[in-house]
Amino acid sequence: MSKIVLKAGREKSLQRHHPWVFSGAIERVEGHPASGETVEIRSAQGGFLGWGAYSPESQISARVWDWREGVRIDREFFANRVRRAVAHREELLAAGATPAARLVHGEADGLPGVVIDRFADWIVVQLTSAGAWRWRDDIASVVTEVTGLPHVFERSDADVLALEGLAPRVAALAGSEPPKAIGIEEHGLKFEVDPRHGHKTGFYLDQRDNRARLRALSHGREVLDCFCYTGGFTVSALAGGAAKVTSIDSSGDAIAAARRHVRQNGFQEERSELLEGDVFALLRKFRDQARKFDLIVLDPPKFAPTAAHAEKAARAYKDINLWALKLLRPGGMLFTFSCSGGVPRELFQKIVAGAATDAGVDVRVLQHLGASIDHPVVLNFPEGEYLKGLICQA
Ligand code: SAH
Repeated sequence: MSKIVLKAGREKSLQRHHPWVFSGAIERVEGHPASGETVEIRSAQGGFLGWGAYSPESQISARVWDWREGVRIDREFFANRVRRAVAHREELLAAGATPAARLVHGEADGLPGVVIDRFADWIVVQLTSAGAWRWRDDIASVVTEVTGLPHVFERSDADVLALEGLAPRVAALAGSEPPKAIGIEEHGLKFEVDPRHGHKTGFYLDQRDNRARLRALSHGREVLDCFCYTGGFTVSALAGGAAKVTSIDSSGDAIAAARRHVRQNGFQEERSELLEGDVFALLRKFRDQARKFDLIVLDPPKFAPTAAHAEKAARAYKDINLWALKLLRPGGMLFTFSCSGGVPRELFQKIVAGAATDAGVDVRVLQHLGASIDHPVVLNFPEGEYLKGLICQA
């Protein structure tokens, strides 16, 4: 068994069960582990720290599978982890009976680099670490066994793959090729998921609970949904009785999908205005036109994938929040989000506070938002908390 020995004093984060070993913390690698191979991780004093997967190309040289010396990393290990994760989701989501959920959420389910989503009768996996790639076939067979669903599609094409030296891989892993559109329901609303070309694994499951929150506050309101993608927030606001929803996305395909979703859910098209365009430009245009809204959603793409992009991202977040706040009627609400791993919650809140000051609006935070309940965060792994949001009232 190959071994990673850490520099003196660098064992502390692992002892707190933070699952990543950075290259700078390593004193030496013993043996010649292949990409993704299981390695033993030891402190400078020789103490056992964990079993991890070796990622030779990455700054994160190893990710821990387990902290217990007596555990074997084999197919059964993956079967147990997936079984446990799926059982948790059954408890969590039983009430909503939603057929669209995240079954495995990486580190938070003890499976770094492994994301498994369910869309109706289809499973979509995203494997983003060398270790996850090593166990691909076992993960696929385990998930069909645990869920009883035969079709598994792989969507390993996230940007982070490049950091691991892995090429994108999008292909059927088990069962048949998925259809172009998989029909799902979220809180009784119908959506279509494109497992090949949709963002992430096809749909933003992480915003499910926040879309329900918006729905509950939408009655009679004029809503602006910025960065609407396929209309998740738009349709939720219409379902909540919004008087009118204006939605913006720069992707024509996303706007077309949002239009289909508005229709499929039976809403009158007069209540929905769908605009293909740039949010930065349209917010300014609305300001010039003196347009006002009661509820505004800002759910932009990841402006800062890592902390290195935080400064540039901060300017972009401030810009859209400032202009959005200027468009709110007194008493109106802003649902504002950041899904940038490189922007921690406190910084995001500071950016929004700065935007409010510059907009000349006194803002109260009504609620802090995060990802849906099937996207847990490990307390000792703050990097896992990528999605943060605020409901602000002007
Ligand atoms: N709220 C959505 C997810 C948003 S994803 C949901 O719940 O499903 C972010 C979206 O922002 C993408 O659809 C992308 O096309 C769009 N986008 C990126 N930059 C943009 C810009 N400058 N103006 C408008 N839309 C943009």
